[in-house]
Amino acid sequence: MAVDTPARIAVLGAGPIGIEAALYGRYLGYDVDVYERGPLAANVQQWGHVRMFSPWRWNVSTLGLAALAAQDPAWRPPEPDRLPTGQELVERYLVPLAHSDLVVDSLRLGTEVLAVGREGLLKGDLVADEARSEPSFRLLVGDRQGERYTTADVVLDCTGTFGNHNWLGTGGLPALGELAAASQIEYGLPDIAGADRARYANRRVLVIGGGHSAATNVLALASLAEEEPHTRVLWVVRRAFSAGQGPLALLEHDPLAERERLAREANRLAAGGGKIECLPQTSVRSLIPRGGGGFVVSLEGAHAGEREVDEIIANVGWRPDRRIYEELQVHECYATGGPMKLAAALLAAGGDCLAQPAVGAEALLQPEMDYYILGAKSYGRRSPFLLRTGHQQIRDVFSIIFDRPGLDLYATHRSPYE
Ligand SMILES: Cc1cc2nc3c(=O)[nH]c(=O)nc-3n(C[C@H](O)[C@H](O)[C@H](O)COP(=O)(O)OP(=O)(O)OC[C@H]3O[C@@H](n4cnc5c(N)ncnc54)[C@H](O)[C@@H]3O)c2cc1C
Repeated sequence: MAVDTPARIAVLGAGPIGIEAALYGRYLGYDVDVYERGPLAANVQQWGHVRMFSPWRWNVSTLGLAALAAQDPAWRPPEPDRLPTGQELVERYLVPLAHSDLVVDSLRLGTEVLAVGREGLLKGDLVADEARSEPSFRLLVGDRQGERYTTADVVLDCTGTFGNHNWLGTGGLPALGELAAASQIEYGLPDIAGADRARYANRRVLVIGGGHSAATNVLALASLAEEEPHTRVLWVVRRAFSAGQGPLALLEHDPLAERERLAREANRLAAGGGKIECLPQTSVRSLIPRGGGGFVVSLEGAHAGEREVDEIIANVGWRPDRRIYEELQVHECYATGGPMKLAAALLAAGGDCLAQPAVGAEALLQPEMDYYILGAKSYGRRSPFLLRTGHQQIRDVFSIIFDRPGLDLYATHRSPYE
C-alpha cells in the first residue's frame, strides 16, 4: 500500500537484504530503523569462511555500489567475476554500506525483534478491512537495557532463516533425544579448517543431509582427514541414489562452476569409501549422549543399526521464525512456511536458484497490509534463494510503498561493471 514520506519503516534483520532495503528506503526519504539482534550480517558471519557460488556482480546492487563510491572516492568495487567468501561480502561491502551516511543512523544493533502486532488490534480483528492498516505496527524489541515497544508504519521482515534450523529426525521430527541434546549438535557450517578444527580432528563425525551445506562440510572433513588421519565421516542421506550418482543432483552445464565442483567432489567422496562412509535412504531415529562425550545414534531405513559418533553436524535446512508475526494476518504456505502468494508463484519454477522467476510486486503482498517478508525468509523452507532475487524484491516492494509502478533505483544507478 502507498505510504507517503516521511513515514517510519522498520527493517527486521541487518543481513544483506535488510541492509540493502534500509539503503533503498533512506534514499527515498523514509525514516528507517534496522533492528538486528546480533552484529551486522550475523548469519552470514556464521558461514563467513564459505566461498559463495555467485560472483560479486550478483551479490551487490548498483545503488549500494553508488553509495559506497559517493562515501569514499578512493573506494573501488570488488572484482565482478570473483566469488567472495561470506566474510569478504561482509567486510568489503555490507559493513561499509551499513556505515555509510544514509544508513548508519538507522542501525539498532544488538536489538532483537520479539513480536510485531497492530496497535490495539488482535489477529482476528478487521479481517479484509482496509481500516486494519490505519493503526501503526507495534514492535516488542529487546536489548541489553531490557524490553520496550516501538512503532512503525511499514515492516520489512528480513530476518532470514539461518538462525532457525529444521530437526534432523525421520520425517522432519526431532529425533528421540534431539531436543535435549540440541546445544551439542552443530546445525550450520563450522569452520572445520580453521577455528573449529580441534573439535573435529581425529573424531568420528556424523553428517546428516544431502544438500550443498552437507557437501561443504563433508569436503572440509575429508581435507581434515588427510592431515588428521583418524578423522572419520558417517554421511547419512535420506534420499536414494543409484551407483554412479551421489547424494547431490548435478545440473547439466551448471553455470555456477563452484557449485558444480562442490557437488561432483562430494559425490566422488560419497562413492569412495575409506574414511567417508555414505549411507543413502537412511535417517536418524534416536541419539543418546554418552557420559564422556559423543553419542550413540540409532539409524533407521536402508542402513538401520546403532553407531557411535563423537560429533553431529545436521545440515537439514532452516525455516522461518513465525513467532515474530504470530499476531498479524500473514498468509503462510502450508508446505514451505513462506508467504503464500510468493510460494504459489515459485511452485512452478522448480528447485534451482537460477530458474527462479521474477514474480513481481503483487506476490509480496500480504493480507496484513504494509507487512512484507523479504530475503531468504520469503522462500520459507526452500533453499534456492539468491541475493540478486532479494534485490528484485526490494525494488518491487518499494514500488508499492512509494506508489510508483516501475520505480527502479537500481536501473537509475549505472553499474561500474558495465
Ligand atoms: C552457506 C550459504 C551459502 C550461500 N551462498 C549464496 C551464494 O553464493 N549466493 C547467493 O546469492 N546466496 C547464497 N546464500 C543464500 C542467501 O543469499 C543467504 O542466506 C543470505 O544471507 C540471505 O540474506 P538475508 O538478508 O535474507 O538473511 P540473513 O543473512 O539470514 O540475515 C538475517 C538477519 O536477521 C537477523 N535476525 C534474525 N532474527 C531476528 C530478530 N528476531 N530480530 C532482529 N534480527 C534478527 C539475523 O541475525 C541476521 O543478521 C547462501 C546461504 C548459505 C547458508
